Amino acid sequence: MFMPSAAEIYRIKETYERFNQRMEMFCRSIWDQEFAETLRVPNYVKALLGRAVEQIQSKRPGHGLREMALCWASWTIAAMDDMAQGWRSGNDGLFNWRPLGASTGGHSGEPLWAYSEVEREEIKDPGLNSINIKKIAVKMGATVAGVASLDRRWVYSHWWSRYTQRSGRVLFSDETREDLPLLTELEDGRRVIPSSMRYVIVLGFERGYEEISTSPDSVAGLGTGMGYSMMAFTAPTLAEYIRNLGYNAIPAGNDTGLSVPMAVDAGLGQLGRNGLLVHPEYGPRLALAKVITDMPLEPDGPIDFGLTEFCEACDICAKNCPSRAISFGERSFEGPTVSNNPGALKWYLDAEKCMRFWTELGEDCSNCLRSCPFNVPPGKGFRLSRWLIRQTPLFNGVLKNMVENSSHIMKKTSAWFYGEE
Ligand code: SF4
Ligand code: SF4
Repeated sequence: MFMPSAAEIYRIKETYERFNQRMEMFCRSIWDQEFAETLRVPNYVKALLGRAVEQIQSKRPGHGLREMALCWASWTIAAMDDMAQGWRSGNDGLFNWRPLGASTGGHSGEPLWAYSEVEREEIKDPGLNSINIKKIAVKMGATVAGVASLDRRWVYSHWWSRYTQRSGRVLFSDETREDLPLLTELEDGRRVIPSSMRYVIVLGFERGYEEISTSPDSVAGLGTGMGYSMMAFTAPTLAEYIRNLGYNAIPAGNDTGLSVPMAVDAGLGQLGRNGLLVHPEYGPRLALAKVITDMPLEPDGPIDFGLTEFCEACDICAKNCPSRAISFGERSFEGPTVSNNPGALKWYLDAEKCMRFWTELGEDCSNCLRSCPFNVPPGKGFRLSRWLIRQTPLFNGVLKNMVENSSHIMKKTSAWFYGEE
């Protein structure tokens, strides 16, 4: 069955421009003083950590030392300064765009094919290669993986680092007439991707149902932190495997491009009202990473399980959003803040409101994951409802009313998570 690409699903306007990472909310919390001063402390991480300490000291139920310790520990790998921070601004540490060469004599920088002085691996069957690369991604720690043709519209126009506050253009080699070094950072900050890198492998990491069920308690942060720590493990490992075979690979977390439309193109799910990718089995509980490559692959293509129509009849995530950041209205072509990139038909999130709430909480919130009817316990039912949603939108209103007060999306306590009730 023919399925339109993410750009066609979002009805991308001709005026649409690639997103500048500098405009992303976490970056703005550092350089945009007007916005930063609306936070408790004008720096996202400092505001978050300061509030976390207050919560621990006040022993607020659900936000005490035991819960906060779990949430913050889960970021251990993802937050390692020298190694894994690259998932935020790209081309750094484990997320370097060049081979790490860690397996060939201690960071020699040489991938195995070059070190062994052989030709690179010839890929005769891209379809079979796609099946294998997804299998290997899962073996390396991803929950799910999909392959897409890389749509450059989802690649950032510029990168911006909230640590160094450096920035630069992200270019493809055929966008410039200069003969520039590829896959490295030039003095003026430009990073040039070979135009041969036409595929992206999108990786999804499940945030656990149990921990997300406690949101907005701090235990829910375990799901998010582990998602990011796992992507810091898996995406660079998969990239290094591809390089060892003789192909280029850019591992990326939140850096380098927009993960959600890439995941839609890779058939991992659809975009929900909550601004998240919703997967048919894991719902909105996937953290996303990607590996851009020139290794020959066969794209999977988008899927449609009736989510857009269901979201039109459903507003549960909007009702459960403590900051009112999620729209109750129709899809539109522009959003409420300068962090929204206009020109795509979708539900836009007010990330300013969302971030202010996170800094009041002392960690991230997952209410829009927990309350979504597509968030179901692993291996559990709703198969009939899902089948119905896929076939026709006629019963969406009734189904939404049935699910709205059901126990699987109701908030659970931290004590429930620890098996104490
Ligand atoms: S994370 Fe929480 S505050 Fe932010 S949009 Fe989701 S529900 Fe709202
Ligand atoms: S809660 Fe409802 S409206 Fe929100 S993303 Fe899930 S299905 Fe869509």
